[in-house]
Amino acid sequence: MTTSTHEQIKLMLEENSCEGCEGINRNFICVHIEAIAELPSRFGDFHIVAFSNNQDGKEHVAIIKGEVFGAEDVPVRLHSECLTGDVIGSLRCDCRDQLEAALKKIGGMDKGIVLYLRQEGRGIGLINKVRAYSLQDQGLDTVEANLALGFRDDERDYAVAAHMLHSLQVQSIRLMTNNPKKIAQLEQYGVKVNERIPHILPSNEHNRFYLETKAAKSGHMIDFRGKQHLEEQSDMTIVEGMEEIMMKDKG
Ligand SMILES: [Zn+2]
Repeated sequence: MTTSTHEQIKLMLEENSCEGCEGINRNFICVHIEAIAELPSRFGDFHIVAFSNNQDGKEHVAIIKGEVFGAEDVPVRLHSECLTGDVIGSLRCDCRDQLEAALKKIGGMDKGIVLYLRQEGRGIGLINKVRAYSLQDQGLDTVEANLALGFRDDERDYAVAAHMLHSLQVQSIRLMTNNPKKIAQLEQYGVKVNERIPHILPSNEHNRFYLETKAAKSGHMIDFRGKQHLEEQSDMTIVEGMEEIMMKDKG
């Protein structure tokens, strides 16, 4: 870690203390940096920044490459936690592929950020996600299964993510996403998005079925046993070799 990064972190931790942030308050968003450490990984050398907030009580983190404090045009990826995909390698979704592709890409850049947001199952939690999987196992489609789950408040999630970027003093970003709506929502919360970087997954044996089912089933994420997949990340999947335009109807 460079000396300047050390100094900046010390300053940011001191500046970050805030009165009046006790308890949940939907009208006043508090997002704080609580700790920063180096995080060497198989995808590159990062820093991990742990945040607290008064909106959802979750411990979100930023995985940071290089000098991002006060920087312009920082490549950023928002990733929603998916225990089954990220950790277990479940093939019911492509979350792990999306996360690894983002970490590899940003790990190879001079700077960038992955915001790892602890909103399991699109914010409905792990138990409800497993319930939805179970309903699908019993033959329900994703729409029917989702009805059993209730709806997720997307805006709150983006508000916390936007405040995390503000806390890191990022001036402007290039968002790695296939979803233009995500850009509009971040901009609502005052994040300057200068560019969209399409998030295209490398083709491999695990995600190739997206290409094949895309060709066979015109865009619906249905596996070879006929089951629909829960759409857990808000981005549509684009695999190398797949035309980006082909996925637009899914957005
Ligand atoms: Zn997932």
